[in-house]
Amino acid sequence: MRFGYSERCLAHDTGERHPETADRLRAIRRGLTKRHGVEYVEAAPASRDAIVAVHDDGYVDELEAFCADGGGNWDPDTVACEDTWDAALTSAGLSQWAAREALDGPNGRGTPFALGRPPGHHAVPDDAMGFCFFNNAAVAAQTVLDGGLAERVAIFDWDVHHGNGTQDVFYDRGDVFYASIHEDGLYPATGAISEIGTGDGEGTTLNAPLAAGAGDVDFLHVIDEVLAPALDRFDPDLLIVSAGFDAHRHDPISRMRVSSEGYALMTDHVRTIGTDVGADVAYVLEGGYGLDTLAEGVSMVHETYDGRTPIEPDDGPDAKTETIAEDLRSRLDLS
Ligand SMILES: [Zn+2]
Repeated sequence: MRFGYSERCLAHDTGERHPETADRLRAIRRGLTKRHGVEYVEAAPASRDAIVAVHDDGYVDELEAFCADGGGNWDPDTVACEDTWDAALTSAGLSQWAAREALDGPNGRGTPFALGRPPGHHAVPDDAMGFCFFNNAAVAAQTVLDGGLAERVAIFDWDVHHGNGTQDVFYDRGDVFYASIHEDGLYPATGAISEIGTGDGEGTTLNAPLAAGAGDVDFLHVIDEVLAPALDRFDPDLLIVSAGFDAHRHDPISRMRVSSEGYALMTDHVRTIGTDVGADVAYVLEGGYGLDTLAEGVSMVHETYDGRTPIEPDDGPDAKTETIAEDLRSRLDLS
């Protein structure tokens, strides 16, 4: 894979004992040093215009002033320092790079993965929250739409938390499909199965809130039975994966049971969907708070694109997952 990476993202300092630290990127880099075919690309920070294409001017001004003033606690979870402004613009810039690179560049081994932080998927148009300041995946999607590089973009969010911010940005839009698999009841408590979009966006939001304890086969079941037919119908030019690794069974902040192999399997199935629907695929880092499991998850995505075939599980999904998938197929009229 080609990894978008910038040292500027390390300067976003959240202080002691915060789970979202620069060590996350360092651990990913360390994990990737043992693999071959890894290439790093530095990207320019996003422009203010690209940010305000999905965020309100007033919020962007407020954040810039907050950082210039030294930062602090934006809210109890979301901490900024002076360098956060530049890191957040850079993180968004890396995701723009990934989206453009996917559409322009070679597929397969050259598939791009933006390793930025702060993460983005909780950032709503007018506020930072959940460790996120700018919605990197949303900025990337809007950039390629505004640039005429794509007519329709899909975002698939496999982070264990619901990407409420990404959903909010595109909830009434027919040109962006947002799909999330997340742990039911976890922060920020949005992403109910009934949230399917509104107006022109009705039917272009898909939420699978799986029960705590769900694992590889449950995620794969939703991907194969709901996401695949939904994207086949939506026909995106680009598929952005909001790739968090906090659904891992050893992640400290969730109760899901995805294995490292599960991330390889999800990657493999997502790649197949991309090929089947004719969409290029780009990966954008979201959460993942166990340093070892985060590094392993990213490595699994890379290895899958580097030619490793993951081992398919031989068990089936939980009955609760099957019920959710059936419900979604009927709500989105996929049957
Ligand atoms: Zn998360």
